[in-house]
Amino acid sequence: MHHFHYQNGELYCEGVPVKAIAARVGTPFYLYSAATLSHHYRVFDGAFAGFPHIVCFAVKANGNLAILRLLARQGAGADIVSGGELHRALQAGVDPGKIVYSGVGKRPQEIRDALRAGILLFNMESSQELEAINRVAGRLGKKAPVALRINPDIDAQTHPYISTGLKKNKFGINIDQALEDYRRARELPHLEVLGVACHIGSQITEVSPFVEALERLKELIARLQDLGIAIRYLDLGGGLGIRYDQEEPPHPHEYGGKIVEKLRDLKVTLILEPGRVLVGNAGILVTKVLYTKESGVKHFIIVDAGMNDLARPSLYGSYHGVWPVVKKARPRVKASLVGPICESGDFLAKDRQMPAFAPGELVAVMSAGAYGFSMSSNYNARPRVAEILVQDQEFYVIRKRETYRQLIWGESIPESLK
Ligand SMILES: *Cc1c(COP(=O)(O)O)cnc(C)c1O
Repeated sequence: MHHFHYQNGELYCEGVPVKAIAARVGTPFYLYSAATLSHHYRVFDGAFAGFPHIVCFAVKANGNLAILRLLARQGAGADIVSGGELHRALQAGVDPGKIVYSGVGKRPQEIRDALRAGILLFNMESSQELEAINRVAGRLGKKAPVALRINPDIDAQTHPYISTGLKKNKFGINIDQALEDYRRARELPHLEVLGVACHIGSQITEVSPFVEALERLKELIARLQDLGIAIRYLDLGGGLGIRYDQEEPPHPHEYGGKIVEKLRDLKVTLILEPGRVLVGNAGILVTKVLYTKESGVKHFIIVDAGMNDLARPSLYGSYHGVWPVVKKARPRVKASLVGPICESGDFLAKDRQMPAFAPGELVAVMSAGAYGFSMSSNYNARPRVAEILVQDQEFYVIRKRETYRQLIWGESIPESLK
């Protein structure tokens, strides 16, 4: 469900015509619908109603302060993977008591900042990290609340780049080694062992891999109990998929229902780390056609957004719907929607049937709210695009388009070259 729809052949975001926003802010830009975001949050959160839980939005999916604030207001916490994301979450007003910190490479300074902020949980991903967090906490005279991120060795059947729960992935602690690490963690004076965690991958379109992972964590929790280690938090990570094309991911209620069913006999607080499922379909990328051309064998539609703005198609070969902002009667063609970047991998849609767009037309690249702006870069010295949030009849610039000045900010030419 989302609030991008046509009225008299024109694409609207909630009550605002996309064309009107483009006229004001120029192209390209990311456009988010506040109503869609709120709705997605409420539905997801509601799927776990009746069971103690915390929904920690995965900041890496979309870290804009306004987006974080909107979710925090509804009660969301944050799943962070860096000191920078901690900063974002705190600036946006996320309750530190609802922040979990994941990631395989936490630096001492980042650990210190998170301890000072008073976050809920560190999800530790290696034996050496146990020692590092213990050391930093000791220096601050604090006890660090920790969970161990377990690699349950589950095949989530998703793209290899976004599969994280297999032994061959770099994430988490091998489940066979976990008991030993828990024993060690318990001995360390500045750690408070509170949880188990996992995150098996992203864009997962079945419930069964989650349930399987949960079963392995439950076995582990039982064994820990035998050792006298009481687990208070069970963090099942994120990863629930969305519809980009023909996928049929489970509804959050089905996902939530099957998880809660497995948890009935456990006295834990469940933590979830959804990213994509909350923001993915709440955002689009709006771009303008510059040129079209025929290569003899292919039809190209060249737009002003490229792989630096939306990396997913070139990185994962992922599909995004391509919609006209203003509908017209015209033929469909087999074409590739490509950007201005000097790379053959620079495409937003490849060899697909789409409207025969003409120069000057606006195109909406759908389902771009997650891992869109947050993965964008300045490659080819392109300023990062603006981000706009629509609420009912109003739109707000929640991030200005970058300027050339910002593009070279911090750079300097040494004396010897002057
Ligand atoms: C990326 C990530 C998430 C969010 O994944 P989605 O597929 O966007 O839900 C959650 N937890 C961790 C640890 C992650 O790395």
